[in-house]
Amino acid sequence: MKKGALIGCGFFAQNHLHAWQELSGVEISALCDRDTARLRGTADRFNIERTYADAAELLNAEELDFVDIATTVQTHRPLVELAATSGVNIICQKPFADTMEDAQAMTRAADDAGVTLMVHENFRWQSAIRAVKDVLDSGRIGNPFWGRVSFRSAYDVYSGQPYLATDDRFIIQDLGIHILDIARFLFGDARSIAASTKRVNPLIKAEDVATMMLVHETGVTSIVDCSYASLLPRENFPESLLEVDGHTGSLRLLPGYQLVIQSADGTEQQDVSPPLLPWAERPWHNIQESVRNIQEHFIDCLNASASPETSGKDNLKTLELVEAAYLSATDGNRTIQLTGS
Ligand code: NAD
Repeated sequence: MKKGALIGCGFFAQNHLHAWQELSGVEISALCDRDTARLRGTADRFNIERTYADAAELLNAEELDFVDIATTVQTHRPLVELAATSGVNIICQKPFADTMEDAQAMTRAADDAGVTLMVHENFRWQSAIRAVKDVLDSGRIGNPFWGRVSFRSAYDVYSGQPYLATDDRFIIQDLGIHILDIARFLFGDARSIAASTKRVNPLIKAEDVATMMLVHETGVTSIVDCSYASLLPRENFPESLLEVDGHTGSLRLLPGYQLVIQSADGTEQQDVSPPLLPWAERPWHNIQESVRNIQEHFIDCLNASASPETSGKDNLKTLELVEAAYLSATDGNRTIQLTGS
């Protein structure tokens, strides 16, 4: 049985706790939040007795295999370094860091301590995205040469996450990071990126629209586009839609989780809808299922002494894309060459 503690009992952490309760071979034995009302409310909801207002006290007092850090980005570095020094394995929510320097320091701290560090980059763990990856790996559409990963919505994300309206960066750092990670997952690491951004909603501080073009090492060119300012006939939140063209066919992941595959054999349509887990609610069930899947993957990795798909080191490449996209957008949309961190 792996024993963990959750740090940060806010909006999204409730999904983590539901998922942990559903998984076997793991138990969350303690909670930590510096906001006492949130700590108490979450402890009561999930029946977890041991609670702490301070992460250092938690790590001193508890015997743990891992901590699950679900705070916002500003506290990730101190908490990851504290956990690494305490010798426990770590999950850290996205965005992993505000700067590449912080992210590199965190991966170094985990390496030096010999602990596993996984970034909770869950979008690639959605069952529809895994289904698309399986089709690409099967060779049914041949070698992909072009792709698009698209997330366009007018859903009110600000009521659940008010910081999104006031932070200095918005859609690339919060959502685009997931969509860029899906592009890396499907098409491989990127060699270059160019980006354009826009703020459409006058009531928020930063950009709510971003359009990016990536050239991948595999030779794929992809478009990654995100918007929280697109009022559409059908609201698709929180679906990521996909288009991939290959040498012998194509695929489209359409609204409503409909996967259409065109190959030399003809057209096939599959329903790749996510399951509605007992604790989940529409339309978030797609994201909630991916939370369970990534947490299960983390425990599998601990048991097998394997590195998670979205390890801290892997995530440096997704973060580098985020930083390069902001640089391009503020510097005349010029193409930024990536170093591969
Ligand atoms: P939130 O503000 O609702 O919750 C954060 C909680 O952490 C708060 O209760 C706060 O008191 C606590 N906290 C902050 N610093 C702390 C510290 N040093 N010690 C103890 N507690 C501390 O934020 P949220 O909306 O739940 O977002 C948390 C993270 O989850 C963000 O990084 C966000 O980007 C991410 N998120 C991820 C997804 C996803 O699909 N992966 C979805 C939504 C949010």
